[in-house]
Amino acid sequence: MIVTEDVGTVQREAWARGVLPPVEQVRPGLWSIPVPMPRNPLRYVLIYALALPDGLALIDVGWDSEESWRALVDGIAETGHHVTDVRYAAITHLHPDHFGLAPRLREVSGAALAMHGADAALLGHHSPTDVAEDEQTWNTQLAQLGAPTGILAAARVDLVRLGAGESMDVVLGDGTALDLPGWDLRAVWTPGHTPGHLTFVDDAHGLMFSGDHMLPRISPNISTVPGELENPLHRYLLSLHATTSMPDGEVLPAHEYRFRGIADRARQLMDHHEERFAEIVDALGVRPESTAWEISQHISWSRPFDSMSDRLLRLAVRETHAHLLVLADRGSIRSLGGHPERWTPTP
Ligand SMILES: [Zn+2]
Ligand SMILES: [Zn+2]
Repeated sequence: MIVTEDVGTVQREAWARGVLPPVEQVRPGLWSIPVPMPRNPLRYVLIYALALPDGLALIDVGWDSEESWRALVDGIAETGHHVTDVRYAAITHLHPDHFGLAPRLREVSGAALAMHGADAALLGHHSPTDVAEDEQTWNTQLAQLGAPTGILAAARVDLVRLGAGESMDVVLGDGTALDLPGWDLRAVWTPGHTPGHLTFVDDAHGLMFSGDHMLPRISPNISTVPGELENPLHRYLLSLHATTSMPDGEVLPAHEYRFRGIADRARQLMDHHEERFAEIVDALGVRPESTAWEISQHISWSRPFDSMSDRLLRLAVRETHAHLLVLADRGSIRSLGGHPERWTPTP
């Protein structure tokens, strides 16, 4: 393990070299532990461990795989603790790379699990009837967006619901203080990436644990998901706007590397979406009366549209849809309705 108060340099270098960063002591009593995510281009999730008088608290827990569990257990050992010392785990949001190991961790250590109510409410859809109903809803949505049947057929793989039968020990809301002696942490609700996404802020120590709300390099996926936020990008932009007025400090994200400049990064992400909006309006100018699917083929992505897996294509079309909803709210475009729904610029 290395001890560093130098903002993210070691992590950034590890990111550039494509290797897993080391376990780092970021502050006295605060460590970052990279936990691998098998077969995922983000490669790892950064778990944070905070010393308590009687053990440890974690922020996020990592992907549910044997390799990830070993990395978490070994990383905790490097901090001089044992996994059974974990008393509390605050989860930024209900995605498998953040929440996945939570049930196992609770079983082993008795840790209390805490999450926002809006994400906690999504736990545990797991009976075959639930899955069949979800599949139907998702297929209907994708068809309405104009996606071809080929990419609908495989949507079932996205439907693995987390936390079957699980419930949270602590439900956090916006502004809830976390009961962690020695720290001054409070939950800040930042909906957008998920309905109940939380960041955790410690003003006394100048720290912001940003989850997936803000990452240093990439823009988090914001898409319309049936049964979740109706206009997720609108909510995300509001969350970013609120983030710009937070006191500055070090950002400890769940992926990539630590950085400084909370307001600057929030503004960059807002600008990024404005560029996307402009691109979509231009694409619709050239091809009026298009579906979300058609538009998504004519805007730029980090990899060529034709080379994306079905799963990425589903994310891309839902992300395009999230942008269309905001543009329609602003009056730049309008929906012509229909099945699938078509969109066109307003004159
Ligand atoms: Zn996420
Ligand atoms: Zn993530």
